[in-house]
Amino acid sequence: MFKALVVEKDPSSGETRARVDTIDEGDLPDGDVTVVVEFSTVNYKDGLCIGPGGGLVRSYPHVPGIDFAGRVERSEDPRYAPGDPVVLTGWRVGEAHWGGYAQKARVKADWLVPLPAGFTTRQAMAVGTAGLTATLAIIALEDHGLTPANGPVLVTGAAGGVGSVATAMLAKAGYEVAAVTGRPDQADYLKQLGAKRIIPRSELAETIKRPLESETWAGCVDAVGGSMLARVLGQMKYGASVAAVGLAGGSDLPASVIPFLLRGINLLGIDSVLQPFEARQRAWQRIARDMPMDKLDAMVQPATLSDLPRLGREILQGKVRGRVVVDVN
Ligand code: NDP
Repeated sequence: MFKALVVEKDPSSGETRARVDTIDEGDLPDGDVTVVVEFSTVNYKDGLCIGPGGGLVRSYPHVPGIDFAGRVERSEDPRYAPGDPVVLTGWRVGEAHWGGYAQKARVKADWLVPLPAGFTTRQAMAVGTAGLTATLAIIALEDHGLTPANGPVLVTGAAGGVGSVATAMLAKAGYEVAAVTGRPDQADYLKQLGAKRIIPRSELAETIKRPLESETWAGCVDAVGGSMLARVLGQMKYGASVAAVGLAGGSDLPASVIPFLLRGINLLGIDSVLQPFEARQRAWQRIARDMPMDKLDAMVQPATLSDLPRLGREILQGKVRGRVVVDVN
Protein backbone atom coordinates (compact mmCIF):
# COMPACT_ATOMS: atom_id res chain seq x y z
CA MET A 1 0.00 0.00 0.00
CA PHE A 2 1.22 3.54 -0.67
CA LYS A 3 -0.02 7.14 -0.57
CA ALA A 4 -1.57 8.89 -3.54
CA LEU A 5 -3.83 11.80 -4.39
CA VAL A 6 -7.00 10.11 -5.63
CA VAL A 7 -9.73 11.94 -7.53
CA GLU A 8 -13.22 10.50 -7.50
CA LYS A 9 -16.26 11.61 -9.45
CA ASP A 10 -19.81 11.55 -8.15
CA PRO A 11 -21.75 9.86 -10.97
CA SER A 12 -24.99 11.69 -10.22
CA SER A 13 -23.73 15.27 -9.76
CA GLY A 14 -20.62 14.86 -11.96
CA GLU A 15 -18.60 16.67 -9.27
CA THR A 16 -15.03 15.58 -8.58
CA ARG A 17 -13.33 15.33 -5.19
CA ALA A 18 -9.58 14.91 -4.59
CA ARG A 19 -8.09 13.54 -1.36
CA VAL A 20 -4.96 11.78 -0.15
CA ASP A 21 -5.66 8.05 0.15
CA THR A 22 -3.79 4.75 0.15
CA ILE A 23 -3.79 2.50 -2.89
CA ASP A 24 -2.62 -1.01 -3.50
CA GLU A 25 0.31 -1.66 -5.83
CA GLY A 26 -1.86 -4.22 -7.62
CA ASP A 27 -4.18 -1.37 -8.68
CA LEU A 28 -1.44 0.39 -10.65
CA PRO A 29 -2.06 0.42 -14.41
CA ASP A 30 -0.16 -1.80 -16.84
CA GLY A 31 3.36 -0.80 -17.81
CA ASP A 32 6.85 -2.26 -18.03
CA VAL A 33 8.59 -0.03 -15.48
CA THR A 34 7.57 0.61 -11.86
CA VAL A 35 9.02 3.80 -10.42
CA VAL A 36 9.33 4.89 -6.81
CA VAL A 37 8.28 8.51 -7.25
CA GLU A 38 10.18 11.15 -5.26
CA PHE A 39 8.88 14.45 -6.66
CA SER A 40 6.14 15.72 -8.92
CA THR A 41 4.95 19.25 -9.80
CA VAL A 42 1.85 21.33 -10.52
CA ASN A 43 1.18 22.37 -14.10
CA TYR A 44 -1.92 24.04 -15.54
CA LYS A 45 -3.16 20.67 -16.83
CA ASP A 46 -2.76 19.22 -13.33
CA GLY A 47 -5.17 21.89 -12.11
CA LEU A 48 -7.72 20.53 -14.59
CA CYS A 49 -7.06 16.88 -13.69
CA ILE A 50 -7.18 17.47 -9.89
CA GLY A 51 -10.44 19.38 -10.35
CA PRO A 52 -13.04 19.39 -13.10
CA GLY A 53 -11.17 17.07 -15.49
CA GLY A 54 -11.39 19.41 -18.48
CA GLY A 55 -12.14 16.46 -20.76
CA LEU A 56 -8.63 15.10 -20.10
CA VAL A 57 -9.37 12.36 -17.55
CA ARG A 58 -10.86 9.19 -19.03
CA SER A 59 -11.97 7.26 -15.95
CA TYR A 60 -12.29 7.53 -12.16
CA PRO A 61 -10.90 6.94 -9.58
CA HIS A 62 -7.91 8.78 -11.02
CA VAL A 63 -4.38 9.61 -9.85
CA PRO A 64 -3.27 12.89 -11.49
CA GLY A 65 0.26 14.28 -11.87
CA ILE A 66 1.46 14.85 -15.45
CA ASP A 67 5.13 14.57 -14.56
CA PHE A 68 7.38 12.96 -11.98
CA ALA A 69 10.97 12.08 -11.13
CA GLY A 70 12.10 9.09 -9.09
CA ARG A 71 13.98 5.80 -9.16
CA VAL A 72 13.21 2.59 -11.00
CA GLU A 73 12.01 -0.15 -8.67
CA ARG A 74 11.34 -2.88 -11.26
CA SER A 75 11.81 -2.97 -15.00
CA GLU A 76 10.89 -5.46 -17.69
CA ASP A 77 12.73 -3.28 -20.23
CA PRO A 78 16.50 -3.68 -20.71
CA ARG A 79 16.99 0.11 -20.91
CA TYR A 80 16.19 0.55 -17.20
CA ALA A 81 17.44 -1.23 -14.07
CA PRO A 82 16.42 -0.95 -10.40
CA GLY A 83 17.82 2.23 -8.84
CA ASP A 84 18.10 4.20 -12.12
CA PRO A 85 16.96 7.80 -11.68
CA VAL A 86 14.31 8.74 -14.27
CA VAL A 87 12.05 11.60 -15.34
CA LEU A 88 8.67 11.43 -16.99
CA THR A 89 6.78 14.19 -18.78
CA GLY A 90 3.93 13.93 -21.27
CA TRP A 91 2.38 10.89 -22.98
CA ARG A 92 -0.96 11.72 -21.30
CA VAL A 93 0.32 10.35 -18.00
CA GLY A 94 -1.72 11.96 -15.22
CA GLU A 95 -4.63 12.37 -17.67
CA ALA A 96 -5.47 9.12 -19.47
CA HIS A 97 -3.00 7.09 -17.38
CA TRP A 98 -2.38 7.29 -13.60
CA GLY A 99 0.33 9.83 -12.87
CA GLY A 100 2.92 11.17 -10.47
CA TYR A 101 0.84 12.21 -7.41
CA ALA A 102 1.64 8.90 -5.74
CA GLN A 103 4.58 7.19 -4.10
CA LYS A 104 4.70 4.70 -7.00
CA ALA A 105 3.86 4.83 -10.70
CA ARG A 106 3.85 2.22 -13.43
CA VAL A 107 4.48 3.38 -17.00
CA LYS A 108 5.87 2.37 -20.39
CA ALA A 109 9.66 2.45 -20.67
CA ASP A 110 9.32 4.51 -23.88
CA TRP A 111 7.83 7.38 -21.89
CA LEU A 112 10.80 7.73 -19.52
CA VAL A 113 13.99 9.73 -19.89
CA PRO A 114 17.08 8.92 -17.79
CA LEU A 115 17.59 11.73 -15.25
CA PRO A 116 20.06 14.11 -16.95
CA ALA A 117 23.52 14.17 -15.36
CA GLY A 118 23.94 16.90 -12.76
CA PHE A 119 20.25 17.03 -11.80
CA THR A 120 18.65 15.84 -8.61
CA THR A 121 15.12 14.44 -8.89
CA ARG A 122 13.91 17.57 -7.08
CA GLN A 123 15.62 19.90 -9.58
CA ALA A 124 14.22 17.87 -12.48
CA MET A 125 10.72 18.52 -11.15
CA ALA A 126 11.48 22.18 -10.48
CA VAL A 127 11.93 22.24 -14.26
CA GLY A 128 9.10 19.77 -14.96
CA THR A 129 6.78 19.83 -17.95
CA ALA A 130 6.55 23.63 -17.81
CA GLY A 131 10.33 24.03 -18.00
CA LEU A 132 10.76 21.37 -20.65
CA THR A 133 8.10 23.10 -22.75
CA ALA A 134 9.71 26.51 -22.30
CA THR A 135 12.97 24.95 -23.49
CA LEU A 136 11.34 23.31 -26.52
CA ALA A 137 9.98 26.76 -27.38
CA ILE A 138 13.43 28.40 -27.11
CA ILE A 139 15.00 25.64 -29.22
CA ALA A 140 12.28 26.07 -31.89
CA LEU A 141 12.85 29.85 -31.98
CA GLU A 142 16.61 29.35 -32.34
CA ASP A 143 16.13 26.69 -35.01
CA HIS A 144 14.24 29.44 -36.87
CA GLY A 145 17.11 31.89 -36.62
CA LEU A 146 16.75 33.64 -33.26
CA THR A 147 20.01 34.84 -31.69
CA PRO A 148 20.61 37.38 -28.90
CA ALA A 149 21.79 39.88 -31.55
CA ASN A 150 18.33 39.93 -33.19
CA GLY A 151 16.75 42.03 -30.41
CA PRO A 152 14.45 41.69 -27.41
CA VAL A 153 12.41 38.53 -26.79
CA LEU A 154 8.92 38.72 -25.28
CA VAL A 155 7.70 36.16 -22.72
CA THR A 156 3.96 36.18 -21.93
CA GLY A 157 2.44 34.72 -18.75
CA ALA A 158 5.91 35.39 -17.39
CA ALA A 159 5.29 34.79 -13.67
CA GLY A 160 3.77 31.35 -14.38
CA GLY A 161 5.72 28.10 -14.71
CA VAL A 162 6.49 28.16 -18.44
CA GLY A 163 7.11 31.91 -18.35
CA SER A 164 9.45 31.83 -15.34
CA VAL A 165 11.68 29.13 -16.85
CA ALA A 166 11.65 30.81 -20.29
CA THR A 167 12.64 34.13 -18.71
CA ALA A 168 15.52 32.65 -16.70
CA MET A 169 16.87 30.49 -19.52
CA LEU A 170 16.67 33.19 -22.18
CA ALA A 171 18.40 35.69 -19.87
CA LYS A 172 21.16 33.20 -19.05
CA ALA A 173 21.70 32.60 -22.79
CA GLY A 174 22.24 36.35 -23.31
CA TYR A 175 18.82 37.43 -24.58
CA GLU A 176 17.17 40.69 -23.57
CA VAL A 177 13.88 39.53 -22.06
CA ALA A 178 10.69 41.57 -21.84
CA ALA A 179 8.27 39.86 -19.44
CA VAL A 180 4.50 40.33 -19.71
CA THR A 181 2.66 39.90 -16.42
CA GLY A 182 -0.75 40.69 -14.99
CA ARG A 183 0.76 40.69 -11.49
CA PRO A 184 2.70 43.95 -10.95
CA ASP A 185 3.79 42.65 -7.51
CA GLN A 186 5.87 40.00 -9.35
CA ALA A 187 8.06 42.59 -11.14
CA ASP A 188 10.99 42.14 -8.73
CA TYR A 189 10.75 38.36 -9.01
CA LEU A 190 10.85 38.56 -12.81
CA LYS A 191 13.80 40.98 -12.75
CA GLN A 192 15.60 38.61 -10.42
CA LEU A 193 15.08 35.87 -13.02
CA GLY A 194 16.74 38.12 -15.59
CA ALA A 195 13.92 40.12 -17.24
CA LYS A 196 15.13 43.55 -18.41
CA ARG A 197 11.65 45.02 -18.93
CA ILE A 198 8.26 44.36 -17.36
CA ILE A 199 5.24 44.86 -19.62
CA PRO A 200 1.88 45.10 -17.84
CA ARG A 201 -0.65 42.60 -19.21
CA SER A 202 -3.07 45.51 -19.76
CA GLU A 203 -0.77 46.89 -22.50
CA LEU A 204 -1.47 43.82 -24.63
CA ALA A 205 -4.99 43.11 -23.43
CA GLU A 206 -6.93 44.92 -26.14
CA THR A 207 -7.88 43.05 -29.29
CA ILE A 208 -6.07 44.12 -32.45
CA LYS A 209 -7.05 47.44 -33.96
CA ARG A 210 -4.27 47.56 -36.57
CA PRO A 211 -2.81 44.35 -38.03
CA LEU A 212 0.71 45.83 -37.93
CA GLU A 213 2.22 47.77 -35.04
CA SER A 214 5.84 48.85 -34.75
CA GLU A 215 8.37 46.03 -35.17
CA THR A 216 9.47 45.37 -31.61
CA TRP A 217 10.17 41.71 -30.77
CA ALA A 218 12.79 39.40 -32.26
CA GLY A 219 11.04 36.37 -30.75
CA CYS A 220 8.28 35.43 -28.33
CA VAL A 221 7.52 32.53 -25.99
CA ASP A 222 3.74 32.76 -25.60
CA ALA A 223 2.00 30.93 -22.74
CA VAL A 224 -1.21 32.97 -23.04
CA GLY A 225 -2.71 32.65 -26.56
CA GLY A 226 -6.02 34.44 -27.30
CA SER A 227 -6.12 38.13 -28.10
CA MET A 228 -2.69 38.70 -26.54
CA LEU A 229 -1.07 36.38 -29.04
CA ALA A 230 -2.98 38.11 -31.84
CA ARG A 231 -1.58 41.49 -30.70
CA VAL A 232 1.95 40.13 -30.39
CA LEU A 233 1.91 38.81 -33.97
CA GLY A 234 1.52 42.39 -35.21
CA GLN A 235 4.49 43.56 -33.12
CA MET A 236 7.05 41.01 -34.37
CA LYS A 237 10.12 42.12 -36.29
CA TYR A 238 10.44 41.15 -39.95
CA GLY A 239 11.00 37.35 -40.28
CA ALA A 240 10.75 36.74 -36.51
CA SER A 241 8.99 33.78 -34.85
CA VAL A 242 6.51 33.27 -32.04
CA ALA A 243 6.42 29.95 -30.19
CA ALA A 244 2.79 29.24 -29.22
CA VAL A 245 2.94 27.20 -26.02
CA GLY A 246 -0.20 27.82 -24.01
CA LEU A 247 -3.75 29.08 -23.70
CA ALA A 248 -3.85 30.62 -20.23
CA GLY A 249 -5.69 33.60 -21.77
CA GLY A 250 -7.85 31.66 -24.22
CA SER A 251 -7.74 29.17 -27.06
CA ASP A 252 -9.14 31.40 -29.78
CA LEU A 253 -6.88 33.45 -32.03
CA PRO A 254 -8.61 36.63 -33.21
CA ALA A 255 -5.71 37.59 -35.46
CA SER A 256 -4.89 38.99 -38.89
CA VAL A 257 -2.85 37.17 -41.54
CA ILE A 258 -1.18 40.46 -42.54
CA PRO A 259 1.92 40.00 -40.27
CA PHE A 260 2.54 36.64 -41.99
CA LEU A 261 2.19 38.12 -45.47
CA LEU A 262 3.93 41.47 -45.07
CA ARG A 263 6.51 40.66 -42.40
CA GLY A 264 7.13 36.98 -43.08
CA ILE A 265 6.70 36.09 -39.43
CA ASN A 266 6.36 32.48 -38.22
CA LEU A 267 3.99 30.98 -35.69
CA LEU A 268 5.56 27.82 -34.26
CA GLY A 269 3.40 25.29 -32.42
CA ILE A 270 4.99 23.69 -29.37
CA ASP A 271 3.81 20.34 -28.02
CA SER A 272 5.63 18.68 -25.15
CA VAL A 273 3.38 15.63 -24.78
CA LEU A 274 4.35 13.52 -27.79
CA GLN A 275 7.91 14.77 -28.33
CA PRO A 276 10.16 11.94 -29.50
CA PHE A 277 12.82 10.68 -27.10
CA GLU A 278 15.68 12.40 -28.97
CA ALA A 279 13.95 15.80 -28.84
CA ARG A 280 13.28 15.45 -25.11
CA GLN A 281 16.90 14.45 -24.51
CA ARG A 282 18.10 17.46 -26.52
CA ALA A 283 15.87 19.73 -24.44
CA TRP A 284 17.10 18.27 -21.13
CA GLN A 285 20.71 18.76 -22.28
CA ARG A 286 19.92 22.38 -23.08
CA ILE A 287 18.32 22.80 -19.63
CA ALA A 288 21.43 21.32 -18.00
CA ARG A 289 23.56 23.83 -19.94
CA ASP A 290 21.46 26.98 -19.61
CA MET A 291 19.29 26.69 -16.50
CA PRO A 292 20.69 28.91 -13.76
CA MET A 293 20.20 26.60 -10.76
CA ASP A 294 20.11 29.47 -8.22
CA LYS A 295 17.26 31.06 -10.19
CA LEU A 296 15.50 27.71 -10.45
CA ASP A 297 15.61 27.47 -6.65
CA ALA A 298 14.12 30.97 -6.38
CA MET A 299 11.13 29.87 -8.52
CA VAL A 300 10.25 26.90 -6.35
CA GLN A 301 7.45 26.65 -3.84
CA PRO A 302 7.56 23.30 -1.97
CA ALA A 303 4.35 21.31 -1.46
CA THR A 304 3.01 17.93 -0.34
CA LEU A 305 0.18 15.74 -1.64
CA SER A 306 -2.32 17.32 0.76
CA ASP A 307 -1.63 20.81 -0.68
CA LEU A 308 -2.68 19.71 -4.17
CA PRO A 309 -6.46 20.32 -4.10
CA ARG A 310 -5.76 23.98 -3.17
CA LEU A 311 -2.85 24.38 -5.62
CA GLY A 312 -4.95 22.83 -8.41
CA ARG A 313 -7.58 25.54 -7.94
CA GLU A 314 -4.95 28.29 -7.68
CA ILE A 315 -3.11 27.39 -10.89
CA LEU A 316 -6.38 27.51 -12.83
CA GLN A 317 -6.89 31.03 -11.44
CA GLY A 318 -3.37 32.13 -12.54
CA LYS A 319 -2.34 32.57 -8.90
CA VAL A 320 0.62 30.17 -8.72
CA ARG A 321 4.02 31.82 -9.12
CA GLY A 322 6.87 29.97 -10.82
CA ARG A 323 7.15 26.28 -10.10
CA VAL A 324 5.68 24.06 -7.39
CA VAL A 325 7.69 20.98 -6.39
CA VAL A 326 5.60 18.28 -4.73
CA ASP A 327 7.36 15.90 -2.33
CA VAL A 328 5.08 12.86 -2.55
CA ASN A 329 6.57 11.20 0.57
P1 NDP B 1 0.75 28.84 -15.05
O1 NDP B 1 -0.63 28.97 -14.52
O2 NDP B 1 1.87 28.60 -14.11
O3 NDP B 1 1.10 30.14 -15.89
C1 NDP B 1 0.19 30.79 -16.74
C2 NDP B 1 0.41 32.29 -16.60
O4 NDP B 1 -0.36 32.95 -17.64
C3 NDP B 1 -0.11 32.87 -15.31
O5 NDP B 1 0.82 32.73 -14.26
C4 NDP B 1 -0.32 34.31 -15.70
O6 NDP B 1 0.95 34.96 -15.70
C5 NDP B 1 -0.79 34.22 -17.15
N1 NDP B 1 -2.25 34.29 -17.28
C6 NDP B 1 -3.16 33.55 -16.59
N2 NDP B 1 -4.40 33.89 -16.98
C7 NDP B 1 -4.27 34.84 -17.92
C8 NDP B 1 -5.19 35.60 -18.70
N3 NDP B 1 -6.51 35.42 -18.60
N4 NDP B 1 -4.70 36.49 -19.59
C9 NDP B 1 -3.37 36.67 -19.72
N5 NDP B 1 -2.44 36.02 -19.00
C10 NDP B 1 -2.90 35.09 -18.12
O7 NDP B 1 0.70 27.68 -16.15
P2 NDP B 1 1.93 26.98 -16.89
O8 NDP B 1 3.05 27.93 -16.98
O9 NDP B 1 2.12 25.62 -16.32
O10 NDP B 1 1.30 26.77 -18.35
C11 NDP B 1 1.09 27.90 -19.17
C12 NDP B 1 0.27 27.49 -20.39
O11 NDP B 1 1.04 26.60 -21.18
C13 NDP B 1 -1.02 26.76 -20.04
O12 NDP B 1 -2.03 27.16 -20.93
C14 NDP B 1 -0.65 25.30 -20.26
O13 NDP B 1 -1.78 24.51 -20.57
C15 NDP B 1 0.31 25.42 -21.43
N6 NDP B 1 1.24 24.32 -21.53
C16 NDP B 1 1.39 23.75 -22.75
C17 NDP B 1 2.27 22.73 -22.93
C18 NDP B 1 2.48 22.19 -24.29
O14 NDP B 1 2.98 21.07 -24.43
N7 NDP B 1 2.16 22.94 -25.32
C19 NDP B 1 3.02 22.15 -21.80
C20 NDP B 1 2.88 22.90 -20.56
C21 NDP B 1 1.98 23.93 -20.45
P3 NDP B 1 1.12 36.45 -15.10
O15 NDP B 1 0.53 36.38 -13.74
O16 NDP B 1 2.59 36.69 -15.14
O17 NDP B 1 0.36 37.34 -16.03
